[in-house]
Amino acid sequence: MERAVDELRSLLGEDSVSTEDEILKAHGYSEWSSINIERLPVAVAFPSSTEQVSKIAKICSKYRVPMIPYSGGSSVEGHFSAPFGGISIDFMEMNGILEFQREDMNITVQPSVSWADLNAKIKDSGLFFPMDPGPTIGGMVGTNCRKSSAGYNLNSLFVGSEGTLGLVTEATLKLATIPEETGVAVIAFPTIKDAASMAVDVIHKGIMVGAVEILDDVQMNVINRSGATGRKWTEKPTLFFKFGGTKVSVADDIDQVQQIAKRYDTLDFQFENDPEKQKRLWSARKEALWSMLALRESGSEVWSTDVAVPLSRVAELIELSKKDLDGLGLFGSVLGHVGDGNFHETILFDGAKERAMVEHCVHQMVDRALEMEGTCTGEHGIGLGKKDYLQKELGDAPIQVMRAIKKSLDPNWLMNPGKIFDPKDK
Ligand SMILES: Cc1cc2nc3c(=O)[nH]c(=O)nc-3n(C[C@H](O)[C@H](O)[C@H](O)COP(=O)(O)OP(=O)(O)OC[C@H]3O[C@@H](n4cnc5c(N)ncnc54)[C@H](O)[C@@H]3O)c2cc1C
Repeated sequence: MERAVDELRSLLGEDSVSTEDEILKAHGYSEWSSINIERLPVAVAFPSSTEQVSKIAKICSKYRVPMIPYSGGSSVEGHFSAPFGGISIDFMEMNGILEFQREDMNITVQPSVSWADLNAKIKDSGLFFPMDPGPTIGGMVGTNCRKSSAGYNLNSLFVGSEGTLGLVTEATLKLATIPEETGVAVIAFPTIKDAASMAVDVIHKGIMVGAVEILDDVQMNVINRSGATGRKWTEKPTLFFKFGGTKVSVADDIDQVQQIAKRYDTLDFQFENDPEKQKRLWSARKEALWSMLALRESGSEVWSTDVAVPLSRVAELIELSKKDLDGLGLFGSVLGHVGDGNFHETILFDGAKERAMVEHCVHQMVDRALEMEGTCTGEHGIGLGKKDYLQKELGDAPIQVMRAIKKSLDPNWLMNPGKIFDPKDK
């Protein structure tokens, strides 16, 4: 590994390869990850072009050194940790727009472009990149997106592969037209089950919502305590809807949502179509995780995890999981993209005893999701933390196929090793 680091330094220059403790820690450990390990990468390389990435890969292959791609570092299942040491490849210098194919509604970018910067840069074109799940494109590709039907779907093979098959240095993204009219609605409910059920009703009705998010009472309380949104929210389970389309279609969507809300004992219904006020309403959803983390006492840890189930089961699973979570007596909340059947739990804890309790609670949630024909993760991915669940979800045969693909593309098992699944004989 030392020889590889020396060679990387002569390739990239001293400033583009770091072995400083702080930098290694920032690339091998995450204070919001559910799982962390002792070992760190031996160095972090900061390439600035595809050519440099390719040369880094050649050097790492020559010395059989693991390569661990790193973009925004937001993933929570130990995705970018370094269980076998190796080089963390941080794409932060590769943050440009390479080509804007305006008429095709496509854009080609480097991996560290953030969706927010990207949208700010192209806003005058009338187009935007509609997804906002992760900080950078590289990580979004690492943990999933996109479409093709030409031959084997190699896009989808790489998308979601968490850096275990290759290093992404460019991505072409499908853009959408910025809607003529947008709106945000926020509705509070007496129970989480009511909130989840109403979200399902809205989806069943075929109303074209851009997003439906659920936040539980704890999460709403946390947002109030953090003061991050500059207003006081009802501390009850709350649904956040985003609408987009023509003026007429948005007005119609809102009207339909209001009609559905009448079937429920809602506590509060707010709607905004003024852009600034919308931003303020949506800010609670955006601030959710950070507000929770801001309340962490020093030394305490966080377990943030997600599952997804068929729409018909999501209200039931959220209700059961919330009961278990409340039963822990710890500080934890539920938040979800309930329209996709996907939700998250974030739980703060302190020490080994509490960790074991949290682990049990998370196991129960994942096991239930699998029993309901769901998946162990809707969007966070497998990383180190969910390998056993993946095995449980898929069984041996699909994992054997994945191993065969990995072996053919990465015969020396150097690309982000230890993530998603282990080599057969480990
Ligand atoms: C608060 C929060 C909210 C979220 N909300 C959503 C949501 O609404 N919808 C959703 O889909 N997801 C959501 N996620 C998951 C999110 O999509 C991922 O955490 C994020 O996309 C990872 O991006 P990153 O840049 O931080 O990548 P990193 O954490 O740096 O890396 C993620 C994975 O991709 C690999 N990788 C990184 N860069 C490259 C590259 N250039 N080439 C190959 N592999 C690479 C890494 O090795 C790692 O395995 C959320 C996560 C958090 C923490």
